[in-house]
Amino acid sequence: MTDASVVWFRRDLRVHDQPTFLAAADAAPRALALFVLDPALLTPSGAPRRTFLFRALRSLDEALGGRLLVVKGDPADAVPRVAAAVGAATVHVAADFGPYGTRRDEAVEQALAADGRALVRTGSPYAVAPGRVRKADGEPFRVFTPFRRVWADHGWRAPADTDASTVTWLDPAEKVGGPRAVRIPDDDPVDAALPEASEDAALARWREFLDDVDDYADARNRPDKPGTSRMSVYLKYGLVHPRTQLADLAKRRSDSVESYRTEIAWREFYADVLFQRPDSARGNYDRSFDALPLASGAAARVSFDRWAEGRTGFPIVDAGMRQLREQAWVHNRVRMIVASFLVKDLHLPWWLGARHFMRYLVDGDLASNQHGWQWTAGSGTDASPYFRVFNPITQGEKFDPDGEYVRRFVPELRGVPGKAVHQPWALPDGVPEGYPEPMVDHKAERLEALARYDRVKEAR
Ligand code: FAD
Repeated sequence: MTDASVVWFRRDLRVHDQPTFLAAADAAPRALALFVLDPALLTPSGAPRRTFLFRALRSLDEALGGRLLVVKGDPADAVPRVAAAVGAATVHVAADFGPYGTRRDEAVEQALAADGRALVRTGSPYAVAPGRVRKADGEPFRVFTPFRRVWADHGWRAPADTDASTVTWLDPAEKVGGPRAVRIPDDDPVDAALPEASEDAALARWREFLDDVDDYADARNRPDKPGTSRMSVYLKYGLVHPRTQLADLAKRRSDSVESYRTEIAWREFYADVLFQRPDSARGNYDRSFDALPLASGAAARVSFDRWAEGRTGFPIVDAGMRQLREQAWVHNRVRMIVASFLVKDLHLPWWLGARHFMRYLVDGDLASNQHGWQWTAGSGTDASPYFRVFNPITQGEKFDPDGEYVRRFVPELRGVPGKAVHQPWALPDGVPEGYPEPMVDHKAERLEALARYDRVKEAR
């Protein structure tokens, strides 16, 4: 047994329910808490995610009594140097199953092994680690419903009983040599109002939501109501673990509880799919969609910009795109509506929309985002059939029946009462000043989308 180990934080910026703490405490009497600012991850993240991360790191550092060592660089270089500086035989992490994280961890593991040290993976950001849930024949699932059944039968561990005092943290000032400590960077300028970035805030929000969880099944599809948990960003950065949520849900029984557990299962399903098919982060999961004719050139760029700025002339789409800028978050129903509009009304590639989301969402998560987009585009697992084209008018009228959501985010339409707000072109005085006419004829573009889809069917 050596004198110290290293706990390397990544997507688990919390002190409760932290199995890595237990593993580190078993390995050595003291541990160094480490975070590596990795330019390969930070550079492509948008300002909302970077700022949320920096705030979450400050809060974690405080929870650890100011003992978080932050360094900058390629982890394959930085982590082994830190481990060598404290003489650690083991570096403890929660496993990462994303395409970049998997490659990075293999490189770190090899670099550590070259020096006789080990990377020890304990747990992951999921209740059931990707790759574990399999069909009877050992193959991965491609369809959600049977995955969910086997996932629930597989079960998960109870939350780990840990807090900051589970480990005796080394003072980073005692570290001799290795990469230089850096300050947690200042916030990037962000226009959006971000949620508070701390484990306390995550748990407080979770408890608040649990009080109303029984309304979830009815309210979850209504963007005009505060009916969803807003836990996605906390799950993304591991300020709470889904295990903690599942343990709390297990104490209750209702359709809403079941419905919430199903949403957690979707998150786990998409992580599993991305793990099985890392190429699906950048291209179609269903390769026959490679034959889909896509819009390109200058006109397509103009269309994309109007979508991104929330100036399509379709109120629910514009409200969603403006919510993205104002809150760095969009309601799930509206994510589907704006995604459908980009892909099926504008005929643009889903990955352009997915990249835009990853830049502006604070909860941007590669697995859930790319597969949420592919579900809408029809090219993913379990996808909504391509021929089901969301109608932005009827979707608005159904899920924002009084038009409150639209009026909240589209000030030009604030004077239009009730659900008339979903068709401003039909108002007696025409479209209110400052708001655009619809940029396309939805009925015509729906037929165009179906005609393009014929090329996919031919390619099968
Ligand atoms: P709740 O309704 O309270 O759901 C609880 C939790 O379940 C969420 O926090 C989330 O972790 C999980 N969840 C819910 N719905 C889904 C889903 N469809 N797929 C996967 N997990 C789900 N979610 C992200 O976390 N990051 C993304 O980048 C992301 N991009 C998306 C892009 C598109 C085009 C679509 C259609 C969906 C995307 N989602 C993404 C899924 C979903 O929209 C968000 O998880 C949800 O809106 C977050 O709000 P909430 O926490 O209030 O959700």
